[in-house]
Amino acid sequence: MLKIALSKGRILEETLPLLAHAGIIPVDDPNKSRKLILDTNLDDVKLVIIRAADVPTYVEYGAADVGISGKDVLMEHDSSELYEPLDLKIAKCRLMVAGKVNEQLPTHRRLRIATKFVKITQRFFAQQAQQVEIIKLYGSMELAPLVGLADQIVDVVDTGNTLRANGLEPKAHIADISSRLVVNKAAFKTNHAKIQQLIQKLAEAVR
Ligand code: AMP
Repeated sequence: MLKIALSKGRILEETLPLLAHAGIIPVDDPNKSRKLILDTNLDDVKLVIIRAADVPTYVEYGAADVGISGKDVLMEHDSSELYEPLDLKIAKCRLMVAGKVNEQLPTHRRLRIATKFVKITQRFFAQQAQQVEIIKLYGSMELAPLVGLADQIVDVVDTGNTLRANGLEPKAHIADISSRLVVNKAAFKTNHAKIQQLIQKLAEAVR
């Protein structure tokens, strides 16, 4: 059995054509089904539908053999227990520091940064030798500078429309993001032929 962990939304939509190229087609429409484990046309392949931030955890613990996860989520999860053999070049965006267009940064206290990417933010500002206070949020980071909760945010940006609509602009680029195939290390050994074939087929589809 090969279990593939995926999240709904952008990643699922852009992954389905790649999986189809690899000969894997879900039986039910994943966007309509409420099932969390989806059968596919192949008896020995299932799709496990979970929250994006949980994909690395499922794969790390072997609850799924492989997964598809944004590089932002992988950087934040920060595990050495996962192989990352393939860049799927989908769901591309940039991880950025952003703030108000005419911002006035405080001089008498640490910069406050609102984000759901706490570890990435810690690492980035530490590399800049800048001590910041990180405020963990779970969504709508763009709101934080507008209501005085934080001075700046760290978030993923695609078109930049959401930033612009809220009077914000990018201040620094942290990383280019795309979705990656991740593989459980033990599964890669025990289920090598099947996983290797999946990697090859997905790599072809990406090309
Ligand atoms: P934007 O196109 O910059 O206005 O992005 C709109 C919102 O979608 C932002 O608030 C981001 O958090 C989110 N977003 C954009 N691209 C991605 C992506 N590739 N993966 C996850 N979230 C994204």
